[in-house]
Amino acid sequence: MSKNILVINCGSSSIKFSLADPLSGKHLLSGLAEKLGSADAALEWKGADSGSKTLGQAGHREALLGIVALLQKLNLSCEGIGHRVVHGGEKFSKSCEVTDESLAALEANSHLAPLHNPVNIQGIEAAREAFPGLPQVMVFDTAFHQTMPRQAYLYALPYELYQQEGIRRYGFHGTSHRYVCTEAAKRLNRPIEELALISAHLGNGCSATAVLGGKSVDTTMGLTPLEGLVMGTRSGDIDPSLHEFLCNTLNLSLSEVSNLLNKESGLLGLSGHSNDMRALLEAEAAGNERAAIAIQVFVYRLAKSIAALTVALGRLDALIFTGGIGENSAPVRQRTLELLPFLHLQPDTEANLQHGRDNQGIITLGTQPCAMVIPTDEEIVIARDTHKLVSGI
Ligand code: ADP
Repeated sequence: MSKNILVINCGSSSIKFSLADPLSGKHLLSGLAEKLGSADAALEWKGADSGSKTLGQAGHREALLGIVALLQKLNLSCEGIGHRVVHGGEKFSKSCEVTDESLAALEANSHLAPLHNPVNIQGIEAAREAFPGLPQVMVFDTAFHQTMPRQAYLYALPYELYQQEGIRRYGFHGTSHRYVCTEAAKRLNRPIEELALISAHLGNGCSATAVLGGKSVDTTMGLTPLEGLVMGTRSGDIDPSLHEFLCNTLNLSLSEVSNLLNKESGLLGLSGHSNDMRALLEAEAAGNERAAIAIQVFVYRLAKSIAALTVALGRLDALIFTGGIGENSAPVRQRTLELLPFLHLQPDTEANLQHGRDNQGIITLGTQPCAMVIPTDEEIVIARDTHKLVSGI
């Protein structure tokens, strides 16, 4: 029987999928169904085969049926399905099988992530119809951070808001932080239980996490993924009074402020040019001052948060860079490390330019502590958790 796992990540108008072998860590087929719900809905895939097809007016259910048909055509099978779910709240501190009860508990959490969880639930329900009889598992972005101590997860708000409404810091990108920290321990050839790590996941969304002995002890994202670092279009931390200020001075509604902070801020807002770090580095080199400002604020805030996270660890063995920017942008890593000399992270410029490729990902001089580049693989974490749960290991 095939041990492959189909990993599904449902967005509001897209489904990313990957057929992965949890034992070897290989991806056999990956693809994207996008523009769902519009007349241009389409499916593309690569790996064991590559191609694309239009899906007509497909929604999530039809797109999943298209993926079933594709797997059948390619003679590929799977033993289970793993779903990426954004918000597990306090109910889910680890991955769990999809059952009527767990789905109901997830639904009860939806108010914590109204943009994401309902879409994830829709994907799970559609997958139950498209793949009847196949076991399914939910893997949460938040679960890894459920080990944070209360001084890290509580906001200084009336305590009743935490007790009655669940208002606290949850953190996100958990599967990515978990993956790169496990990988760092392997590469450093040390048990993860002994290590004090900080992982910086820098993609369109950005977060950094302090991981002590393999457990998340603090992270930069909060109740929602808006808190913390500067991101592609998200502001990260701001003065909480800004909402009222903008409503009063610019006559914006709350949803307009929310849109501004989530979609028009961050690198895009500061530069007025792009949310894409590659484009900003090119623009900076061509003399674009606003691009330079955006990168400067991004790097400063990142370094400041890394320094703050060391408080949760008491020491540091390794700083890990991952995500599209963390894995590919030598200048961002170099500039970040240059702001942190007191952490004794001395950049090795040559190794950094090579993304640490010939040195287990290590991009600093000396041995202790080190900074590393480790490509993330959230799908493999989801495939492995799913395999463990469906095969009862
Ligand atoms: P997502 O969070 O959507 O998964 P990614 O992890 O793919 O996003 O990261 C996207 C970011 O990575 C973009 O800002 C992009 O500019 C950046 N990026 C990718 N390659 C490079 C590169 N070579 N240099 C600088 N930034 C890069």
